[in-house]
Amino acid sequence: MCWTVPEKDLKSLLPEELQKLAALNGEKSFCGTVLFEWMHQKYISDLNAAANLAKKFRAALRGAGYYIGCLTLLKRAAAADGALKYLFVLADGCKIETVLLEDAGRRTLCLSTQVGCRRACLFCATGRMGFRRDLSAGEIADQVLQVEKRERLKINNLVYMGMGEPLDNYENTLKSVRILNDKRGRNIGARHITISTCGIIPGIARLAAENLQIRLAVSLHGATDAVRGRLMPVNKKYPVAELIRAVRAYQKRTGRRVTFEYIMIDGLNDTREHARGLLKLLSGLSAQINLIEYNPHSRAEFTPSPKKTIKEFWWIITDRGFAASIRYKRGGSINAGCGQLYAGR
Ligand code: SF4
Repeated sequence: MCWTVPEKDLKSLLPEELQKLAALNGEKSFCGTVLFEWMHQKYISDLNAAANLAKKFRAALRGAGYYIGCLTLLKRAAAADGALKYLFVLADGCKIETVLLEDAGRRTLCLSTQVGCRRACLFCATGRMGFRRDLSAGEIADQVLQVEKRERLKINNLVYMGMGEPLDNYENTLKSVRILNDKRGRNIGARHITISTCGIIPGIARLAAENLQIRLAVSLHGATDAVRGRLMPVNKKYPVAELIRAVRAYQKRTGRRVTFEYIMIDGLNDTREHARGLLKLLSGLSAQINLIEYNPHSRAEFTPSPKKTIKEFWWIITDRGFAASIRYKRGGSINAGCGQLYAGR
């Protein structure tokens, strides 16, 4: 099986890059912007459809090997609770999954950034696939375009929480954010875009220096190395204390509140003592804590915390002034829940 990242996909290019391409081909640079608009506002999949661009320009692009890359939808599954899951096949045969959640006018798309993942978190089905390859910026952005086209709606919220660790594919992830945020294309507001990481410290430091108002979410799941290390091998390289130091530095530089994701697993991280440890660890940070009901998958070794335990944990945290919410399972019946994405069943 050959796993290749498409290099000449025009959807991977920013308007400025397309403008340069136009100028190199003897066209006015605004033709690059026009092409960007065709792809990201009118969802074209063939250069021929960009009717107001010169034939000669389109032929030159094709001659140089450029094309408009599109994911192919293999399967669409709907859960009773409204969650939709899409299985896409990429040009080289690799598969990824994307999830759409609608809630009170908020249409959130959960994007994948890699085929598989090398971080092997124990509660995550994707982690058990191993790593195959990074997605290109175009392949990440096209998940939005294909879902919008299929469902005839506009996505207004993005979470980079699908398959893969976004900060392990830093360049393409950030480029896709810029493409999707661009006013000449989908124009999805940066404040409605969340990048979630399992705790890649160098990536968090880089993100702090970006001139983008995006949100950061950190998968924490344990307040000590003993607990977190049982769930997430990444904790060995980036232990809890160093991770929280990096998050404090991020917050100092950006002034932005950080979200912590905390999957509730029976007996492992859900006691009163664990809650108090979490409060101590995060003290002084402006943080939102999401308590997530664990979604077992077919190879699961863990049991979800009882609802009563999750509620108690929530009380302890909110009593001390932290913003916290409980995320009950959604999409579980179609394996679209948190930690359940696994392309290739
Ligand atoms: S939770 Fe995220 S980082 Fe961990 S294995 Fe799954 S996809 Fe990778």
